[in-house]
Amino acid sequence: MTNEITANICVIGGGSGGLSVAAGASQMGAEVVLVEGAKMGGDCLNYGCVPSKSMIAAANAAHAIRSADRFGIDAAEPNVDFRKVHDHVHGVIGAIAPHDSVERFEGLGVRVIQEKGKFVGPNRVQAGDTVITAKRIVVSTGSHAGVPPIPGLDSVPYLTNETVFDRTEAPAHLLVIGGGPIGSELSQAHRRLGCDVTILDIAKTLNNDDPELTEVVRTRMLKEGIVIREEIEILSVEKDGAGVAVNIRDNGKEERVTGSDLLVAAGRVPNLDGLDLEAAGIEYDRRGIKVDARLRTTNKKVFAIGDAAGSFQFTHVAGYHAGIVIRNVLFRLPAKVDYSALPWVTYTDPELAHVGLTEKQAREKHGDIRILRHPFAENDRAQAERDTEGLAKIVTTAKGVIVGASIVGPHAGELIQPWILPIQKKMKIGAVAGLIIPYPTLGEVSKRAAGSFYTPKLFSEKTKKIVRFLSKLG
Ligand SMILES: Cc1cc2nc3c(=O)[nH]c(=O)nc-3n(C[C@H](O)[C@H](O)[C@H](O)COP(=O)(O)OP(=O)(O)OC[C@H]3O[C@@H](n4cnc5c(N)ncnc54)[C@H](O)[C@@H]3O)c2cc1C
Repeated sequence: MTNEITANICVIGGGSGGLSVAAGASQMGAEVVLVEGAKMGGDCLNYGCVPSKSMIAAANAAHAIRSADRFGIDAAEPNVDFRKVHDHVHGVIGAIAPHDSVERFEGLGVRVIQEKGKFVGPNRVQAGDTVITAKRIVVSTGSHAGVPPIPGLDSVPYLTNETVFDRTEAPAHLLVIGGGPIGSELSQAHRRLGCDVTILDIAKTLNNDDPELTEVVRTRMLKEGIVIREEIEILSVEKDGAGVAVNIRDNGKEERVTGSDLLVAAGRVPNLDGLDLEAAGIEYDRRGIKVDARLRTTNKKVFAIGDAAGSFQFTHVAGYHAGIVIRNVLFRLPAKVDYSALPWVTYTDPELAHVGLTEKQAREKHGDIRILRHPFAENDRAQAERDTEGLAKIVTTAKGVIVGASIVGPHAGELIQPWILPIQKKMKIGAVAGLIIPYPTLGEVSKRAAGSFYTPKLFSEKTKKIVRFLSKLG
């Protein structure tokens, strides 16, 4: 027998996006039903951002011991206890989990149903034996690791982001299919925790970012002993004793690359199976649910957000989407997404951060642009920290309007943040060049890059003539 209930908003999926909608809407007085088919907190908490950044923190601690000699302190090969690293990672998840828990959301007044949801009509969702009729429905079902159609892959055990953090023993040699942000972060983390690592990619590693900056990360990864095989063909995968072998073709030559374990990090697939989107007239393709700028699906009473909507797959985007939906649904405002000042960070060392347009995009859009650079090697704090690899690269129009910023270097994820506001507000470079920045800080790279916009004018013959003339006046 089915249990029929009604709600103002039914949210399917209790991850980064869905939880933000549910918490916001219920605190504003809406009746909210949240349907979650697995773990509250979704990918970010359980299999994504939180465990990966926790593992990276452990890996960086190991690296600090290994590289302490740059400060005159004896370096040593750290004794990594992988089980304890596992416990640390899961301890962090456990510390954050109460914030995303059923108890917390029920305390906020949300009715949580721990079942998988599917559409049974344009405004009706079934979850277990409950059918929810809602004025508005939000699909926030996230994504999972895509598994490329490589012959033999289904015949070997392989890890994905859902299983890699469960390991209590270090893989001796981890083969990683995919050198994007997830593959690169996890490769460097495992390398620093003492594993041999080989990245296999059909394209260039980190190829969504500016190649001038990704090269800095790539060089560091190579220096740390990660083997990078990029722009190769992956022909097949097979068992190799207790391990695994990947057969590749590199520049026409066939090779067999062997390792103990295989991690697949080759893109993401939206979680749409079993949702019966057709029952609600919702269109989708392999990238995700089709949405307009207000995040409405082809059924205007249903919104799709986060990874399921297939745009930029980040937790902060899912959270941003949640805010757009709340404004549309609760305040009836026609709020639309605007990605012009969207930042993202890859948490390798050095970190790689970006906001706005890349150089290539800016050239296509604005034609005449200025590229401003400042290297960390010329930053006194970076010298003191002996962490001088990387640069800030800022893109402006010819008139100095800031349109993009990319930073590769220490703490780039923090250093990119002051660039978000000027790009969003279409400010000119003088606003950053004129700031007083505390000395010695890494943030000075941004001010120095900004200041370089004026270098050609300041040191021109015309300026010199004016200065000479004014000096003569006394
Ligand atoms: C290894 C890794 C590292 C990452 N690191 C970062 C990072 O550092 N920074 C960053 O911004 N992003 C990062 N991401 C991306 C980030 O995790 C996602 O973009 C984010 O979780 C998307 O939020 P979401 O709400 O769309 O989906 P999720 O948070 O995944 O939530 C979807 C939820 O829906 C549930 N669900 C699915 N189908 C159904 C159904 N039919 N019925 C009911 N429930 C359902 C799922 O169980 C899940 O709980 C990382 C991802 C990975 C894999």
